[in-house]
Amino acid sequence: MIPAPFDYEVASSVEHAMELLSAGGDGAKLLAGGHSLIPLMKLRFARPTLLVDIARMGSLSYIRDGGDHVAIGACTRHADVHHSELLAEANPMLALVAGLIGDPQVRHKGTIGGSVAHGDPASDLPTALVALDATLVAQGAGGTRTIPAGDFFTGIFTTALGAGEILTEVRVPRLDASTGWSYLKFNRRAQDWAIVSAAAVVRRSNGTAESARVALGNMGTAPVRARGTEEAITGAGRDAIAAAAARAAEGTDPPADTNAGPDYRRHLAQVLAGRALEAAFG
Ligand code: FAD
Repeated sequence: MIPAPFDYEVASSVEHAMELLSAGGDGAKLLAGGHSLIPLMKLRFARPTLLVDIARMGSLSYIRDGGDHVAIGACTRHADVHHSELLAEANPMLALVAGLIGDPQVRHKGTIGGSVAHGDPASDLPTALVALDATLVAQGAGGTRTIPAGDFFTGIFTTALGAGEILTEVRVPRLDASTGWSYLKFNRRAQDWAIVSAAAVVRRSNGTAESARVALGNMGTAPVRARGTEEAITGAGRDAIAAAAARAAEGTDPPADTNAGPDYRRHLAQVLAGRALEAAFG
Protein backbone atom coordinates (compact mmCIF):
# COMPACT_ATOMS: atom_id res chain seq x y z
CA MET A 1 0.00 0.00 0.00
CA ILE A 2 3.01 2.31 -0.31
CA PRO A 3 3.58 3.92 -3.73
CA ALA A 4 6.90 3.62 -5.56
CA PRO A 5 9.07 6.76 -5.15
CA PHE A 6 8.11 9.77 -7.28
CA ASP A 7 8.89 13.48 -7.64
CA TYR A 8 6.19 16.09 -7.11
CA GLU A 9 5.75 19.54 -8.70
CA VAL A 10 2.94 22.06 -8.35
CA ALA A 11 1.97 23.70 -11.66
CA SER A 12 1.15 27.41 -11.54
CA SER A 13 -0.66 27.47 -14.92
CA VAL A 14 -1.72 25.16 -17.74
CA GLU A 15 1.37 26.21 -19.71
CA HIS A 16 3.60 25.44 -16.71
CA ALA A 17 1.95 22.03 -16.34
CA MET A 18 2.63 21.30 -20.03
CA GLU A 19 6.32 22.25 -19.55
CA LEU A 20 6.63 20.03 -16.49
CA LEU A 21 4.94 17.12 -18.31
CA SER A 22 7.25 17.54 -21.28
CA ALA A 23 10.38 17.69 -19.09
CA GLY A 24 9.20 14.66 -17.08
CA GLY A 25 8.84 12.45 -20.17
CA ASP A 26 6.90 9.18 -20.20
CA GLY A 27 6.93 8.85 -16.41
CA ALA A 28 5.17 12.18 -15.77
CA LYS A 29 1.48 12.23 -14.86
CA LEU A 30 -1.00 14.91 -13.93
CA LEU A 31 -2.44 14.84 -10.42
CA ALA A 32 -5.86 16.42 -9.80
CA GLY A 33 -7.95 15.12 -6.88
CA GLY A 34 -5.83 11.96 -6.64
CA HIS A 35 -8.87 9.82 -5.90
CA SER A 36 -8.26 7.49 -8.84
CA LEU A 37 -4.51 7.87 -9.39
CA ILE A 38 -3.28 7.57 -5.78
CA PRO A 39 -5.11 4.24 -5.11
CA LEU A 40 -3.55 2.86 -8.33
CA MET A 41 -0.12 4.06 -7.17
CA LYS A 42 -0.58 2.47 -3.76
CA LEU A 43 -1.33 -0.84 -5.47
CA ARG A 44 1.65 -0.16 -7.78
CA PHE A 45 -0.56 -0.55 -10.85
CA ALA A 46 0.67 2.97 -11.70
CA ARG A 47 4.28 4.01 -11.10
CA PRO A 48 4.70 7.59 -12.29
CA THR A 49 8.14 9.07 -11.69
CA LEU A 50 6.77 12.64 -11.54
CA LEU A 51 3.39 13.96 -10.42
CA VAL A 52 2.39 17.39 -11.75
CA ASP A 53 -0.25 18.80 -9.41
CA ILE A 54 -2.80 20.92 -11.31
CA ALA A 55 -5.47 21.10 -8.60
CA ARG A 56 -3.79 23.89 -6.63
CA MET A 57 -3.45 26.52 -9.35
CA GLY A 58 -7.08 27.66 -9.14
CA SER A 59 -7.40 28.79 -12.76
CA LEU A 60 -9.10 25.50 -13.78
CA SER A 61 -11.69 25.62 -10.97
CA TYR A 62 -14.80 27.47 -12.15
CA ILE A 63 -18.38 27.08 -13.35
CA ARG A 64 -19.35 29.80 -15.86
CA ASP A 65 -22.31 30.73 -18.00
CA GLY A 66 -21.26 30.36 -21.65
CA GLY A 67 -24.63 31.37 -23.17
CA ASP A 68 -25.94 28.17 -24.76
CA HIS A 69 -23.72 26.08 -22.48
CA VAL A 70 -22.16 25.98 -19.03
CA ALA A 71 -18.35 25.83 -18.94
CA ILE A 72 -16.77 23.90 -16.08
CA GLY A 73 -13.04 24.05 -15.40
CA ALA A 74 -11.39 20.63 -15.33
CA CYS A 75 -10.24 20.97 -11.71
CA THR A 76 -13.71 21.78 -10.37
CA ARG A 77 -14.56 19.39 -7.53
CA HIS A 78 -17.58 17.09 -7.77
CA ALA A 79 -19.09 18.79 -4.67
CA ASP A 80 -18.95 22.21 -6.37
CA VAL A 81 -20.63 20.80 -9.49
CA HIS A 82 -23.29 19.20 -7.30
CA HIS A 83 -24.04 22.43 -5.39
CA SER A 84 -23.73 24.88 -8.29
CA GLU A 85 -26.71 27.28 -8.52
CA LEU A 86 -25.95 27.90 -12.20
CA LEU A 87 -26.06 24.19 -13.02
CA ALA A 88 -29.19 23.70 -10.89
CA GLU A 89 -30.89 26.12 -13.26
CA ALA A 90 -29.15 25.39 -16.59
CA ASN A 91 -28.24 21.70 -16.43
CA PRO A 92 -29.61 20.04 -13.28
CA MET A 93 -28.74 16.60 -14.69
CA LEU A 94 -25.00 17.20 -14.31
CA ALA A 95 -25.47 18.58 -10.79
CA LEU A 96 -27.45 15.49 -9.80
CA VAL A 97 -24.89 13.08 -11.29
CA ALA A 98 -21.98 14.75 -9.47
CA GLY A 99 -23.86 14.22 -6.20
CA LEU A 100 -24.09 10.47 -6.85
CA ILE A 101 -20.30 9.99 -7.02
CA GLY A 102 -18.72 8.12 -4.11
CA ASP A 103 -19.07 9.69 -0.68
CA PRO A 104 -18.60 13.27 0.61
CA GLN A 105 -14.80 12.87 0.91
CA VAL A 106 -14.52 11.68 -2.70
CA ARG A 107 -16.76 14.51 -3.91
CA HIS A 108 -14.70 17.13 -2.05
CA LYS A 109 -11.38 15.97 -3.57
CA GLY A 110 -12.26 14.38 -6.93
CA THR A 111 -12.51 16.64 -9.98
CA ILE A 112 -14.64 16.55 -13.11
CA GLY A 113 -11.52 16.60 -15.31
CA GLY A 114 -9.87 13.76 -13.38
CA SER A 115 -12.97 11.62 -13.65
CA VAL A 116 -13.31 12.25 -17.38
CA ALA A 117 -9.59 11.85 -18.20
CA HIS A 118 -9.37 8.64 -16.16
CA GLY A 119 -11.81 6.99 -18.60
CA ASP A 120 -13.31 4.40 -16.26
CA PRO A 121 -16.42 2.95 -18.00
CA ALA A 122 -18.07 2.49 -14.59
CA SER A 123 -17.76 6.20 -13.70
CA ASP A 124 -20.86 8.35 -13.57
CA LEU A 125 -19.82 11.55 -15.32
CA PRO A 126 -18.60 10.04 -18.64
CA THR A 127 -21.96 8.30 -19.24
CA ALA A 128 -23.90 11.46 -18.39
CA LEU A 129 -21.66 13.61 -20.60
CA VAL A 130 -22.16 11.29 -23.59
CA ALA A 131 -25.96 11.49 -23.17
CA LEU A 132 -25.75 15.26 -22.79
CA ASP A 133 -23.64 15.60 -25.96
CA ALA A 134 -21.09 17.57 -23.95
CA THR A 135 -17.90 19.03 -25.41
CA LEU A 136 -14.45 18.55 -23.89
CA VAL A 137 -11.67 21.10 -24.32
CA ALA A 138 -8.05 19.94 -24.41
CA GLN A 139 -4.86 21.99 -24.50
CA GLY A 140 -1.53 20.68 -25.72
CA ALA A 141 1.63 21.71 -27.52
CA GLY A 142 -0.35 22.02 -30.76
CA GLY A 143 -2.92 24.42 -29.24
CA THR A 144 -6.48 24.00 -28.01
CA ARG A 145 -9.07 21.63 -29.51
CA THR A 146 -12.61 20.56 -28.71
CA ILE A 147 -13.73 16.93 -28.66
CA PRO A 148 -17.37 15.72 -28.53
CA ALA A 149 -17.89 13.50 -25.46
CA GLY A 150 -19.13 10.75 -27.79
CA ASP A 151 -15.67 10.59 -29.41
CA PHE A 152 -13.62 11.10 -26.25
CA PHE A 153 -13.88 7.72 -24.49
CA THR A 154 -12.05 5.27 -26.72
CA GLY A 155 -11.62 2.21 -24.46
CA ILE A 156 -11.05 1.06 -20.93
CA PHE A 157 -9.08 3.82 -19.13
CA THR A 158 -8.30 5.24 -22.57
CA THR A 159 -9.37 8.54 -24.06
CA ALA A 160 -8.77 10.71 -27.11
CA LEU A 161 -6.31 12.88 -25.13
CA GLY A 162 -2.88 12.85 -26.75
CA ALA A 163 0.47 12.64 -24.93
CA GLY A 164 1.05 15.85 -22.99
CA GLU A 165 -2.49 17.12 -23.56
CA ILE A 166 -4.42 18.51 -20.61
CA LEU A 167 -8.19 18.47 -20.34
CA THR A 168 -9.02 22.06 -19.40
CA GLU A 169 -12.80 22.44 -19.63
CA VAL A 170 -16.07 20.51 -19.86
CA ARG A 171 -18.99 22.23 -21.64
CA VAL A 172 -22.53 21.01 -21.09
CA PRO A 173 -25.53 22.38 -23.00
CA ARG A 174 -28.13 24.55 -21.32
CA LEU A 175 -31.27 22.38 -21.12
CA ASP A 176 -34.54 24.10 -21.97
CA ALA A 177 -38.05 23.30 -20.72
CA SER A 178 -38.76 20.95 -23.64
CA THR A 179 -35.84 18.70 -22.72
CA GLY A 180 -36.45 15.89 -20.25
CA TRP A 181 -33.59 13.99 -18.65
CA SER A 182 -32.77 11.24 -16.20
CA TYR A 183 -29.69 9.50 -14.83
CA LEU A 184 -30.08 6.21 -13.00
CA LYS A 185 -27.33 4.21 -11.34
CA PHE A 186 -27.63 0.66 -10.04
CA ASN A 187 -25.16 -0.28 -7.31
CA ARG A 188 -25.09 -2.33 -4.12
CA ARG A 189 -23.88 0.36 -1.70
CA ALA A 190 -24.54 4.10 -1.94
CA GLN A 191 -20.87 5.08 -2.46
CA ASP A 192 -20.04 2.45 -5.10
CA TRP A 193 -19.43 2.77 -8.82
CA ALA A 194 -22.34 1.77 -11.06
CA ILE A 195 -22.85 -1.89 -11.87
CA VAL A 196 -24.80 -0.42 -14.79
CA SER A 197 -26.01 3.15 -15.29
CA ALA A 198 -28.35 4.73 -17.83
CA ALA A 199 -28.67 8.37 -18.87
CA ALA A 200 -31.46 9.68 -21.09
CA VAL A 201 -31.87 13.15 -22.61
CA VAL A 202 -35.09 13.55 -24.57
CA ARG A 203 -36.29 16.58 -26.50
CA ARG A 204 -40.10 16.46 -26.39
CA SER A 205 -42.78 18.06 -28.53
CA ASN A 206 -46.50 17.39 -28.07
CA GLY A 207 -45.89 14.13 -26.23
CA THR A 208 -43.41 12.67 -28.73
CA ALA A 209 -39.64 12.48 -28.65
CA GLU A 210 -38.17 14.77 -31.31
CA SER A 211 -34.74 13.42 -30.44
CA ALA A 212 -33.28 11.14 -27.78
CA ARG A 213 -29.80 10.31 -26.55
CA VAL A 214 -29.51 7.30 -24.25
CA ALA A 215 -26.09 6.31 -22.86
CA LEU A 216 -25.14 3.30 -20.74
CA GLY A 217 -22.29 3.00 -18.24
CA ASN A 218 -20.32 -0.18 -17.49
CA MET A 219 -21.83 -1.99 -20.49
CA GLY A 220 -18.53 -2.11 -22.40
CA THR A 221 -15.02 -0.69 -22.33
CA ALA A 222 -16.38 2.87 -22.60
CA PRO A 223 -19.79 4.54 -22.22
CA VAL A 224 -22.04 3.31 -25.07
CA ARG A 225 -25.04 4.84 -26.79
CA ALA A 226 -28.15 2.60 -26.77
CA ARG A 227 -28.71 3.20 -30.47
CA GLY A 228 -31.58 0.73 -30.85
CA THR A 229 -33.45 2.41 -27.99
CA GLU A 230 -32.82 5.87 -29.44
CA GLU A 231 -34.06 4.77 -32.86
CA ALA A 232 -37.23 3.19 -31.44
CA ILE A 233 -38.21 6.15 -29.26
CA THR A 234 -37.41 8.97 -31.69
CA GLY A 235 -40.64 10.24 -33.23
CA ALA A 236 -42.69 8.11 -30.83
CA GLY A 237 -44.47 8.71 -27.53
CA ARG A 238 -44.53 7.26 -24.06
CA ASP A 239 -46.34 4.11 -25.29
CA ALA A 240 -43.19 3.12 -27.22
CA ILE A 241 -40.93 3.12 -24.15
CA ALA A 242 -41.21 -0.61 -23.31
CA ALA A 243 -40.30 -1.68 -26.86
CA ALA A 244 -37.51 0.89 -27.03
CA ALA A 245 -36.04 -0.17 -23.67
CA ALA A 246 -36.05 -3.82 -24.76
CA ARG A 247 -33.43 -2.85 -27.36
CA ALA A 248 -31.09 -1.15 -24.86
CA ALA A 249 -28.46 -3.90 -24.78
CA GLU A 250 -28.28 -4.36 -28.57
CA GLY A 251 -24.69 -4.36 -29.75
CA THR A 252 -23.19 -4.13 -26.26
CA ASP A 253 -20.45 -6.34 -24.85
CA PRO A 254 -20.84 -5.99 -21.08
CA PRO A 255 -18.07 -7.13 -18.73
CA ALA A 256 -18.26 -9.91 -16.12
CA ASP A 257 -16.99 -9.19 -12.61
CA THR A 258 -17.81 -10.05 -9.00
CA ASN A 259 -20.90 -7.82 -9.09
CA ALA A 260 -22.62 -9.10 -12.24
CA GLY A 261 -22.27 -11.17 -15.38
CA PRO A 262 -23.05 -9.98 -18.92
CA ASP A 263 -26.63 -11.33 -18.96
CA TYR A 264 -27.56 -9.62 -15.72
CA ARG A 265 -26.00 -6.39 -16.99
CA ARG A 266 -28.06 -6.63 -20.22
CA HIS A 267 -31.19 -7.05 -18.11
CA LEU A 268 -30.23 -4.05 -15.96
CA ALA A 269 -29.59 -1.94 -19.06
CA GLN A 270 -33.10 -2.64 -20.34
CA VAL A 271 -34.76 -1.90 -17.00
CA LEU A 272 -32.75 1.28 -16.35
CA ALA A 273 -33.16 2.58 -19.92
CA GLY A 274 -36.94 2.13 -19.62
CA ARG A 275 -37.09 3.90 -16.28
CA ALA A 276 -34.82 6.69 -17.50
CA LEU A 277 -37.06 7.25 -20.54
CA GLU A 278 -40.19 7.27 -18.36
CA ALA A 279 -38.62 9.95 -16.17
CA ALA A 280 -37.36 11.94 -19.16
CA PHE A 281 -40.89 12.02 -20.66
CA GLY A 282 -42.00 13.69 -17.40
P1 FAD B 1 -6.88 11.90 -10.30
O1 FAD B 1 -6.95 10.65 -9.50
O2 FAD B 1 -5.97 12.97 -9.78
O3 FAD B 1 -6.44 11.56 -11.81
C1 FAD B 1 -7.03 10.50 -12.51
C2 FAD B 1 -6.36 10.36 -13.88
O4 FAD B 1 -6.70 11.45 -14.72
C3 FAD B 1 -4.82 10.36 -13.81
O5 FAD B 1 -4.34 9.53 -14.83
C4 FAD B 1 -4.44 11.81 -14.11
O6 FAD B 1 -3.14 11.91 -14.65
C5 FAD B 1 -5.52 12.20 -15.11
N1 FAD B 1 -5.93 13.60 -15.06
C6 FAD B 1 -6.46 14.27 -14.01
N2 FAD B 1 -6.83 15.49 -14.37
C7 FAD B 1 -6.53 15.62 -15.69
C8 FAD B 1 -6.69 16.67 -16.65
N3 FAD B 1 -7.26 17.86 -16.32
N4 FAD B 1 -6.27 16.46 -17.92
C9 FAD B 1 -5.72 15.26 -18.28
N5 FAD B 1 -5.55 14.23 -17.42
C10 FAD B 1 -5.96 14.41 -16.14
N6 FAD B 1 -16.28 7.82 -9.47
C11 FAD B 1 -17.53 7.69 -9.98
O7 FAD B 1 -17.74 8.11 -11.10
N7 FAD B 1 -18.55 7.12 -9.25
C12 FAD B 1 -18.37 6.63 -8.00
O8 FAD B 1 -19.31 6.16 -7.38
C13 FAD B 1 -17.06 6.73 -7.43
N8 FAD B 1 -16.82 6.26 -6.19
C14 FAD B 1 -15.57 6.38 -5.68
C15 FAD B 1 -15.32 5.86 -4.38
C16 FAD B 1 -14.06 5.95 -3.84
C17 FAD B 1 -13.82 5.38 -2.47
C18 FAD B 1 -12.99 6.58 -4.57
C19 FAD B 1 -11.61 6.71 -4.01
C20 FAD B 1 -13.23 7.10 -5.84
C21 FAD B 1 -14.50 7.00 -6.40
N9 FAD B 1 -14.77 7.49 -7.68
C22 FAD B 1 -16.03 7.35 -8.22
C23 FAD B 1 -13.71 8.12 -8.51
C24 FAD B 1 -13.72 9.62 -8.26
O9 FAD B 1 -14.78 10.22 -8.95
C25 FAD B 1 -12.40 10.29 -8.73
O10 FAD B 1 -12.35 11.53 -8.15
C26 FAD B 1 -12.24 10.50 -10.20
O11 FAD B 1 -12.42 9.31 -10.94
C27 FAD B 1 -10.86 10.98 -10.56
O12 FAD B 1 -10.76 12.35 -10.31
P2 FAD B 1 -9.50 12.94 -9.60
O13 FAD B 1 -9.62 14.42 -9.69
O14 FAD B 1 -9.36 12.35 -8.25
O15 FAD B 1 -8.32 12.47 -10.59
